[in-house]
Amino acid sequence: MVDIFTPEQRSHIMSQIRGRDTKPELALRSMLHRMGYRFTVNGPKNKRLPGRPDVVLPKHGTVVFVHGCFWHGHENCADFKMPKSRRAWWKAKICGNKARDERVQAELRVLGWHVVTIWACALKNIHARMWLEARMPSLIGPQPVEEVISETWKVAEDETPYRVNS
Ligand SMILES: [Zn+2]
Repeated sequence: MVDIFTPEQRSHIMSQIRGRDTKPELALRSMLHRMGYRFTVNGPKNKRLPGRPDVVLPKHGTVVFVHGCFWHGHENCADFKMPKSRRAWWKAKICGNKARDERVQAELRVLGWHVVTIWACALKNIHARMWLEARMPSLIGPQPVEEVISETWKVAEDETPYRVNS
């Protein structure tokens, strides 16, 4: 079978494919665990709710998605660059993913869930994780959902994490 991707693209895809138990998800779980949150990653709600949330915190009525910056098209993020070849194909693919993310979040809000999206870049190094951990209670606790889901993170080249208002 002829591979339609270059080896470089292929390895990028393989590293970015959304799956369970990815490194950023594990980093998030260990952070939540250390902070004393009770959550599920493989419970009925994780399996049945729209979009199959990565983490469900039933007591808080909160669901969390960990989004890979490439696959979910994290704008203004150093970890997201549209591939140069097959650009139209990638653009359609990533736009489709983003549209699906929005639809899923809307469905969850209708069901009364508080939706938190955490970009993988907010978990990729110790500085980013410390920054995220400090904000975790306000993300997970009661807060207008709209504020939460519009939050995105970016880790700058010098690895000083900061918030991007989008
Ligand atoms: Zn990112």
